[in-house]
Amino acid sequence: MSDATNLTPAQIVVLHAEAYAQRSPFVDPAALRVVMSTHFHTEWAAAILGHPYQGWNHIANWEIVLLALALKAEPDRPTPAVVAERQERARREMEEAERARQVRYQAELDAWHVLRDRLPIKVTVGHNWTIGHWESGYVTGRDHIVAQEELRVGRLHRAVRQVLCETPSKTTSGRRNKDPLRGVDRRDDGEDRIPTCVACLRVAERIARPA
Ligand SMILES: [Zn+2]
Repeated sequence: MSDATNLTPAQIVVLHAEAYAQRSPFVDPAALRVVMSTHFHTEWAAAILGHPYQGWNHIANWEIVLLALALKAEPDRPTPAVVAERQERARREMEEAERARQVRYQAELDAWHVLRDRLPIKVTVGHNWTIGHWESGYVTGRDHIVAQEELRVGRLHRAVRQVLCETPSKTTSGRRNKDPLRGVDRRDDGEDRIPTCVACLRVAERIARPA
């Protein structure tokens, strides 16, 4: 069986017989209309005819009837080889891109784990869902490094659950910001995120033990 049609050889033989029985010195106008108005691929037509197809005016009258019968018998024709090949190539390229992306991601994750293990405190990575945090000025929409223990390195101080990039700020009313991490997802969902906040990473690099 050809890839270009889902009809079995037996079904095609039956169609051949049916069409050949209607052979005539004249073109069947109804069949010609069907063949001319229906989109089909030459691979499909060749599989039905049993020889290459170069257009309706290159085939016998009864073969036009044959194609019309086959078009009716197989309204959902398979994608022809050339299209299938193109789709296959696109699929392979996508797979390769995905593989490359995974390799890159793994490398970034490994690098982050190395840095994390050099930090003096336990940290997690939390995503900031807010669109802005004017009080503390940390970068929004990023994955920040969240202190899970109090951090004191020289003059640097971060309370538990503060992000590294956040400078302990005061609100405009002069009081400490009660929820310095507002907007950052502080639940440790166990997801192994890679911090994307450059400011957090800069602080982490500064406080990390030498490699
Ligand atoms: Zn940050």
